[in-house]
Amino acid sequence: MAKLIQSIRGMHDVLPDDSHRWQAFEAIIRQLMATYGYKEIRMPLVESTDLFCRSIGEVTDIVEKEMYTFEDRNGDKLTLRPEGTASCVRAGVQHGLLYNQVQRLWYSGPMFRHERPQKGRYRQFHQFGVETYGIATPDIDAELILIGARLWKQLGLKGIRLELNTLGSNEARTEYKKVLVDYLNQHKELLDEDSLRRLTTNPLRVLDSKNPAMSEMLDNAPTLFDHLDEESRQQFDKLKTSLEATGVEYTINPRLVRGLDYYCKTVFEWVTDDLGAQGTICAGGRYDGLVEQLGGKATPAIGFALGMERILSLLEAQQEQKADSVDVYLVLLGEACELKGLQLAEGIREQMPEVKMITHCGGGSMKSQLKKADKSGANIAVILGEDELNNKQVTIKYLRERKDQKTVGFNELATFIAA
Ligand code: ATP
Ligand code: MG
Repeated sequence: MAKLIQSIRGMHDVLPDDSHRWQAFEAIIRQLMATYGYKEIRMPLVESTDLFCRSIGEVTDIVEKEMYTFEDRNGDKLTLRPEGTASCVRAGVQHGLLYNQVQRLWYSGPMFRHERPQKGRYRQFHQFGVETYGIATPDIDAELILIGARLWKQLGLKGIRLELNTLGSNEARTEYKKVLVDYLNQHKELLDEDSLRRLTTNPLRVLDSKNPAMSEMLDNAPTLFDHLDEESRQQFDKLKTSLEATGVEYTINPRLVRGLDYYCKTVFEWVTDDLGAQGTICAGGRYDGLVEQLGGKATPAIGFALGMERILSLLEAQQEQKADSVDVYLVLLGEACELKGLQLAEGIREQMPEVKMITHCGGGSMKSQLKKADKSGANIAVILGEDELNNKQVTIKYLRERKDQKTVGFNELATFIAA
């Protein structure tokens, strides 16, 4: 029998039973983009290698080791696109879409990166991306973030956090780089091989390292905030005000520098804890210098791209949980608490018949009960131990959100759960 030919490692078929999930996702994107007044742009899958080297940056993961580059029959050096922004700028300049105009654009389609395949990381994957041109003010930064927030809402995704940072102007970054390099040189013994190399070629990228051995040292590094130029600081403040006014929660992550060279000022990532190591589902930022760098007239620009496979697997993970998960898991430590717990639970069921709640049975340590609570899919664990019992209160532990635990009196528990 002839040998079977398989698909390329890290490149996957979407099978008939699965394609409807892609179609539904794509339909939501298309509709959402229309409601914000964005137009679709479609670029080729193959570009000159030079385009990516000049835009993404020579000392980045993508250009250093991830591109599918080949020579075609004419001997031209070509690359399967690893991302969409560079092509979008190239197309915009080439067709005169950018100069003195405002453009709100989106694209979606396959991207190619030669990475080690694992869950959430493929060699052919799909991105949906948004790019805007001609708007220098942070109102557009806010709009892009709001589009993301609305998309999560429309998809029914939960527990997605926004991380935000500003990279400042080019001058501010140059200034900061010196300070950072000094600091990193003082901790040279902690730097891994990649970081040692980047220390001389692209020191900001060291902050991006995911090596846990360097994490503490990097957390204590001087931050760009202290070297920020006034304009970037003002723009960042305005963005934060817009997000607060529209109810978008964020955390500031001074180590967020993004993996591509062309970013400046606002950068952001949407992250989830539900996908393991590949937790960034969407990332973007401002790239005011790129259009000029690629031969166009200076044009302010900002965009983001999301990984469609990661979103789809997040949807799957959360919807499975939704199907048969409960809202509350009652953790009871010791006999006296078990009895009181039973009363509390019945009181809640009486008042709120719709609440799905598991009362722990069979005893066991806090740790083992919390494990079961987590597995149950509950959003909160309500913990009743001896101390709580004496104070007539319970401790609430959030299982799906990064929130501090809190105490709630017996009498207020039902109202708390209802909220
Ligand atoms: P990571 O740090 O996970 O490698 P990145 O910084 O290289 O991500 P970007 O270039 O910003 O990613 O791409 C935007 C989004 O595209 C990512 O947040 C992610 O959701 C998705 N993505 C990137 N690379 C892959 C891949 N190899 N497979 C699947 N999705 C990917
Ligand atoms: Mg990457």
